[in-house]
Amino acid sequence: MARKRIDELDLVRIAERQRMLMFVVLAMILNSVISFTLARTGSPITGGIWLFWGFQVLLAVAGAIVLTRLYMALGENPAVAVVLGVLLVVPVLGLLILIGAGSQSSTILKLAGARVGLMGVSMTERDKLKPNHCKGCGYPRESLEALAPCPECGRTPIVW
Ligand SMILES: [Zn+2]
Repeated sequence: MARKRIDELDLVRIAERQRMLMFVVLAMILNSVISFTLARTGSPITGGIWLFWGFQVLLAVAGAIVLTRLYMALGENPAVAVVLGVLLVVPVLGLLILIGAGSQSSTILKLAGARVGLMGVSMTERDKLKPNHCKGCGYPRESLEALAPCPECGRTPIVW
């Protein structure tokens, strides 16, 4: 499957899906930490390990869906994501697969000029990725002259 060029990608879509992916990563880490703590403290909650696996399977299903959608946005073969999705249920491996896909997206988003945090691209940063929005502050430039400076931040668009 041919890779897409960066200007052919829908960067806003990638940013949204990467953020969802990072929420699944966070939930997986929380599930492990909480289950481990419950087990260590000998909590009266019985069946803690089943609770862990129950959530892990749910998160793996959510992760597989988000991963497939992210792969489609990245122009990668979504079939690979479906295969990897099955492996998401494996505790540490699942996290590594998701973090790998997240960092691949970060590289592309950073190349496009977005600031990418731990939880992906923020709402304000996402506006900057939209076509015809100011790259400096995210202001919609539809009504402006092509080379007019941005009324919000004064940035003049760079002509490629
Ligand atoms: Zn601006």
